[in-house]
Amino acid sequence: MAKKGQTYFCEICRQKVVVAEEGFGVLVCCGQEMKLVGVKGMMATWTTAHHKPDGGVTFVCNVCKQKIKVVVETTGILECCGQRMQREEASTSQE
Ligand SMILES: [Zn+2]
Ligand SMILES: [Zn+2]
Repeated sequence: MAKKGQTYFCEICRQKVVVAEEGFGVLVCCGQEMKLVGVKGMMATWTTAHHKPDGGVTFVCNVCKQKIKVVVETTGILECCGQRMQREEASTSQE
């Protein structure tokens, strides 16, 4: 099960996502489970270097309400709980 703040990536298309809201579903991309990226090493560097990723595309699972932020976007299809995740455009800039 995904935990908030964890990074997952797809070995096939190299898509990379960060968990924004935990859910019980398993993250799937390109038809296979996404791999958990270790929190050590490159993750620490990545956090400081790209604290605010451009785009801010978010995907939500309608079944388990899991929410992920896409860090590296590819054409891979993201799925959770057996169905495609719903794309949410970043529209929360009300400053
Ligand atoms: Zn789900
Ligand atoms: Zn993929």
